[in-house]
Amino acid sequence: MMYSQVLKDILMEYEKKRDKAIYEQRIRTQKVYKKIPRIKAIDKEIWETGLSISKSIIDNPESYKENLQKVREHMEKLKMEKAYLLTEGNIPLDYLDIKYECKQCEDTGYLSNGDKCNCLKQSLINKAYKMSNVESVLKKENFQTFNIDIFPDEQFEGESMTPRENMVNISSICEGFVSNFNENNEENLLFYGTTGLGKTFMCNCIAKALLDKNKIVIYQTAFKILEIIERRRFGRDENRFDDSQYSLLFDADLLIIDDLGTELSNSFTNAEVFNIVNTRLINGTKTIISTNLTPKEISDTYTDRVFSRVLEKFIPLRFYGPDLRYYRWEVK
Ligand SMILES: [Zn+2]
Repeated sequence: MMYSQVLKDILMEYEKKRDKAIYEQRIRTQKVYKKIPRIKAIDKEIWETGLSISKSIIDNPESYKENLQKVREHMEKLKMEKAYLLTEGNIPLDYLDIKYECKQCEDTGYLSNGDKCNCLKQSLINKAYKMSNVESVLKKENFQTFNIDIFPDEQFEGESMTPRENMVNISSICEGFVSNFNENNEENLLFYGTTGLGKTFMCNCIAKALLDKNKIVIYQTAFKILEIIERRRFGRDENRFDDSQYSLLFDADLLIIDDLGTELSNSFTNAEVFNIVNTRLINGTKTIISTNLTPKEISDTYTDRVFSRVLEKFIPLRFYGPDLRYYRWEVK
């Protein structure tokens, strides 16, 4: 449903592009007609000749072929003269053509066989990126740039897995999450652990991989989500954009809530965040929550018992190890 709305918006932009291309072609045509009136007469004759062909096909389906050759020759002569006049007037031969941005689909978005044109596919991806809120960072942070070597391969505070082994495990779960994304498997992820351990990086990897698969991904901090909710509730500004921001929280294929628990929460906002996550669970759309709190601290913060039950639907993945923001400078 979400996807079709985005597609509809894009196709409306395409229609505007087409209208603009046709409008500009008309302006150019008028200019040329004014400069070289003979071309206007030629165009009129070409058009009328075209009509007469259609007419003779209908009127004399038996004999039209005989005339056709003559008419074609006449048509060719007219076109030659037109080309000659344009060249004489120093006007490029394609000056009177409609200049579509995309020659393949003539700005319709679709090829003649009904497939989506690459330009339409690209617009869909670009749109999804823009809405995701992560456009700029994704070039740097994705599964391809993920370097497992920055995680130390030594025992850490009595954990059974080293931080590196733990990250290998987490990243394979995340890659599985991406490749099984279309399955209705109720897979949601909870990233927890202190800052600087790669939670955000992993969120970016997943966002990028899914955006590349044409999914709608929304990445927001819990703080920003509350802002969106409150702006809507208290109607501080009632423009349509904010409403679409709000509905995207429900409708996106993946919602990533970053930094849950750092926002100043009250029972109203908690209920609203819960409402979003729960609605998504019911609809079978997926959510990733990233937080510095432990699951215990989360249930203390979000005292709502229902909220704890919602969190049970998430696969908890614990990030631990030395703070990478400092550690990464020591390795290599
Ligand atoms: Zn195209």
